[in-house]
Amino acid sequence: MSNNSNNDTPASRSRKIKERACAEGFHLVGIVKADALELERERLQEWLERRLHGEMRWMEREPEKRTDPRLVLPSTRSVVAVALNYYTPHKHTDEPSTGKISRYAWGDNYHDVVGEKLKRLLAWIKEQWPETEGKVCVDIQPVMDKVWAERAGLGWIGKHSNLITRERGSWVFLGELILNLELEPDAGRVEDHCGTCTLCIEACPTKAIVEPYVVDSNRCISHATIELRAPEIPDDVSSNLKGWLYGCDICQDVCPWNRFEQQTDESRFEPRDNNVNANLSDILELTPETYAERFRRSAIKRAKLTGLQRNARTLVEHKA
Ligand code: SF4
Repeated sequence: MSNNSNNDTPASRSRKIKERACAEGFHLVGIVKADALELERERLQEWLERRLHGEMRWMEREPEKRTDPRLVLPSTRSVVAVALNYYTPHKHTDEPSTGKISRYAWGDNYHDVVGEKLKRLLAWIKEQWPETEGKVCVDIQPVMDKVWAERAGLGWIGKHSNLITRERGSWVFLGELILNLELEPDAGRVEDHCGTCTLCIEACPTKAIVEPYVVDSNRCISHATIELRAPEIPDDVSSNLKGWLYGCDICQDVCPWNRFEQQTDESRFEPRDNNVNANLSDILELTPETYAERFRRSAIKRAKLTGLQRNARTLVEHKA
C-alpha cells in the first residue's frame, strides 16, 4: 500500500486511478459520479416497447438495474470508464469463397482482455484503499457501457449508436469499474460531432439505422449473424448480407471519424489465421470439436456452431 493513501482527496485518488489505468494499457479513461440514468431509462423503455431489440431478450430484464449502478452494487459512488483500442490495419476482401468477420472478433475475446485488465486495476485500487468495494463490468453485466463512456467524457454515441472517440475513432472496447470510493469526476461530456453527416445511415444495406441514434436490431446484420438463433435469417437481411459471416462493420467503416484510427499496441487483438475473411467451405466442414478448437477464447463462439454454419450457408446460397 502507498504511504499516503489515507490522506488522498477525491482528486488525488482520481489522478492515481487514471495513471494506473493507463499503465494497465487502457487508451482512454474517465471518471463520473454514479447517478441513475433517468433519460436513458426512458429511451431504453421506448426502444424495448418498439421491439427494436430483436432476439436480445435479456435487455428486457431489470431495466432499473441496467440504468442505476447502485442496484448492481449498493455502495457505488463513482464509475471509472475505460476504452481499449482494438484497431489493426488489416482489411476485408470481397472474395466470394469467404465471409467477412467483424473486426472486434478477429483476435482474443475482448471480454477476457478488458476484464483481466480491469480486475488488475481493481486489485490495485483495493491495495491502495482497503475500504474499496467495486465491480468489474464488461458488456455482460447489466451496466450501459456506452452511456457511461459518454458521461465520463471518452466520446459521444454516434448516429450508428457506437461510441466514437475524437482521438481514435470508434474501434474501441469499453468497460467500467463501479466503485464505492468518492472520486473527482471529469469535466463532462464530449460534444456530439456527427453534425449533418448521415453516411452510416445511408451505407447500411438493410436500413437498420431507422432514425439517427436508433438501430432496429431486427434489420441489423450484426444482430442476425451473432444473436439470432432462428434456423434461417429473414429474407430482407439475408439478401443483403454483403458478404458478412459474423457481425458487420459497415457503419463504422464509412464513419469519417475512423480516419483517426490507430494501430493498437495490444497484441491479443491481432487477427488469428483466416479470421478476417473465413473460408466458407472450412466453416461448413467444422465439427463441434474443430469449432471449439479453432475459436477457443474467441468472441465468435457467441454465434454457436449452428449459427455460424447457418450464416455460411446463407452466404453460399445468395452467391449461387
Ligand atoms: S458516419 Fe457520420 S453520422 Fe454516422 S456515426 Fe459517423 S459521423 Fe456520425
